[in-house]
Amino acid sequence: MKQRLNLSLLAIATSLAFGASAQEFPSKDKTVTIVVPFAAGGPTDRVARDLAEALRKPLGGVSVVIDNTAGAGSSIGSAKVARAAPDGYTLLLNHIGMSTMPALYRKLPFSVPNDFEYLGMVNDVPMTLIARPSMPANNFKELTGWIAQNKGKINLGNAGLGAASHLCGLMFKSALQTEMTDVPYKGTAPAITDLIGGQIDLLCDQTTNTTPQIEAKKVKAYAVTTPKRLSTPALKDLPTLDEAGLKDFNVSIWHGLYAPKGTPAAVITRINEALKLALKDPDFIKKQEGLGAVVVTDKRMEPAEHKKFVLSEIDKWGAVIKTAGTYAD
Ligand code: ASP
Repeated sequence: MKQRLNLSLLAIATSLAFGASAQEFPSKDKTVTIVVPFAAGGPTDRVARDLAEALRKPLGGVSVVIDNTAGAGSSIGSAKVARAAPDGYTLLLNHIGMSTMPALYRKLPFSVPNDFEYLGMVNDVPMTLIARPSMPANNFKELTGWIAQNKGKINLGNAGLGAASHLCGLMFKSALQTEMTDVPYKGTAPAITDLIGGQIDLLCDQTTNTTPQIEAKKVKAYAVTTPKRLSTPALKDLPTLDEAGLKDFNVSIWHGLYAPKGTPAAVITRINEALKLALKDPDFIKKQEGLGAVVVTDKRMEPAEHKKFVLSEIDKWGAVIKTAGTYAD
């Protein structure tokens, strides 16, 4: 009896504490941290930093900082957030990797459907197929010729199993029915540095990372991965992979914002409202458009829609990965 009473007192105390923190959230003397599960300077990091800036005002001026916890195709940083205190001060920005990890990693230390609160989606980002600046091929046709002549010698970078670059690479190799050596990095920021330096040959990466490099002619670009050409000035002349001959090739990356499971409903609503304002910030929209990304529609900013979408993507990619037979422990 006494023990039961103690437990109920504990439950009341806990709910009062969460209730109070939900009302005060975000407290001015605290910092909201967005964990980016990839290396600094890469495409997910770029989106997170722009978002952090846009979130500051709608979150009442609180400081929003980035924590790059990179590695293993985003599973290390995601695990960190799944284990964090569910108080709204530790969030995760991740991309399509959220839906590929459950099938790819046999020992994933968290459940994507059950260990997170879904706060809303952010954007869709196309990808581009790029090569080292010394690549002799000047268009996609020449590139496929070069690939055919260099079988067994080609290095293709990626940001780890389940990363967008890894998925795109898998699809590219399977469409060409050719093998290449996968070279994993902690994000595509270090991968693109090595591509520019000529240590690897090819990379498929989000436009948020590749656009400035294409503009500065630091890499060679061959195609975009979307069904339609893009309107961003630096990318508008690139053919789609579909029109270049790889029929129905279509990979587009999306980002979403997450909190640990158990975050109070009032805090989730507060962050979602701030997210919606941030995504309507003309400055944020302009930056995204300049990098070839598109901010999601109002409907996709809703947490329930976000979760529904991720669950459908888990099914979609789970089937693709099962067929490909690619796994990691
Ligand atoms: N673009 C990377 C990927 O391949 C991730 C990153 O570095 O943001 O998923």
